[in-house]
Amino acid sequence: MEDMIPIPRLFGTSGIRGKIGNEITLKLITEVGMAAATYVGSKGHKIVIGYDTRTSNRMVENAITAGILQCGCDVIQLGMVPTPVVGYAAMKLKADLGIMITASHNPSPYNGIKLWNPTGMAYTQDQERTIEKIIHEKGFYKVSWEDIGKIKNNTSVIFDYINDLLSNIDIKGNLKVIVDCGNGAGSYISPMVLRKAGLEVITLNCQPDGFFPGRMPEPSEANLSELMKVVKATGADIGIAHDGDADRMIAVDDNGKIADFDKLLALVSSKIGGKVVTTVDASFCVDKCMEEEGGEVVRTKVGDVHVAEVIVETNASFGGEPSGTWIHPDFCMCPDGILSALKVIEIVEKNGPLSKLLDEIPSYPTVRDKIECENIQKTLIMEKVKEELPDRFEDVNDVNFIDGVRISMNDGSWVLIRPSGTESYIRITLESITMEKAREIRNISREFIEGIL
Ligand code: MG
Repeated sequence: MEDMIPIPRLFGTSGIRGKIGNEITLKLITEVGMAAATYVGSKGHKIVIGYDTRTSNRMVENAITAGILQCGCDVIQLGMVPTPVVGYAAMKLKADLGIMITASHNPSPYNGIKLWNPTGMAYTQDQERTIEKIIHEKGFYKVSWEDIGKIKNNTSVIFDYINDLLSNIDIKGNLKVIVDCGNGAGSYISPMVLRKAGLEVITLNCQPDGFFPGRMPEPSEANLSELMKVVKATGADIGIAHDGDADRMIAVDDNGKIADFDKLLALVSSKIGGKVVTTVDASFCVDKCMEEEGGEVVRTKVGDVHVAEVIVETNASFGGEPSGTWIHPDFCMCPDGILSALKVIEIVEKNGPLSKLLDEIPSYPTVRDKIECENIQKTLIMEKVKEELPDRFEDVNDVNFIDGVRISMNDGSWVLIRPSGTESYIRITLESITMEKAREIRNISREFIEGIL
């Protein structure tokens, strides 16, 4: 259905992203600025802009600023800040829009643009489609020379952010923390916040550098070997790693091991309690932990904006994806890797070593598999999966289509089949009570999909 819309898609699962000079051209950037200003209302409105540590950032900032000013809207430049600061500043400064210039965890040649509502919530797909339509139709607002927008700088809102963060947590400062910002946008502010919370902090890769000499910006296990070693060698209580724009956080436990993503999410969810939103691909250890605390779990599509939308719809107290993208709605609707780190540290300080807390959370065999396919085959495969795959299992309890096809069995096992949004794969994610059952579900799903190809 969506393929029938003739307007070219610019926004992917996380804003506009691509290689500078290839997908991301100055013309495109300027037009995004013009469309954004047209969308929020031109004269008398204001847009806050921040950027991460990439070499192309000032260039993108200037081009997008030029587009905004040309359409009569004012710009507040925040400088180099993490994504959550842009979300917070949009809210705090009562701006009409926040723009973050970042390619998050992508390598150095990439950059991107992500748009944020005044609540700090990411732009929804509908809002992004509207921006695309304005660009496609060249329906930009025009002002004459006397109404061109103005630029202001704001370097003080970041201190409001820090103070508000610190008043939102209860940390005594008894722990030793290693923080690895991967030369990204969290480099100054994340260690500063942790130190202001009274913690003993050792920094790794906290010099901003768009070449990412310390490690790649994706906080994957392969990129965090140094952090794991340092946590162990220094006897630290916890290690924290951020992605390139610090909207995400990954933790390393006191044994120098990466904290299991799903278990960490389950731990934090159960401590926050109430109603929690997570994605269809998260482990049911989240449900188990929430059940014990009398809480409730609401599932949504993969992607932080979907989590944010359902938090608002259901008035939830917390929401997150296993990737470490977590939203704390009491603070701001923008995912915040620094606040997430503080929350984990607060929990560890109160309840004991992270390794022990994670050990207490039940583990279930999880399989993440993928099958290569042509992009044009994805629709056909997903149609067949939807119609026929559930019949291949004997004890199906429920099938839902929130995102891809998720089949759950009577014993709680589930399998999720979804096309990758960015690569030529069909992804199979599943979880079961026993490894044997997990293998069986994987084999049935794999053989079915391979049978279509
Ligand atoms: Mg990010």
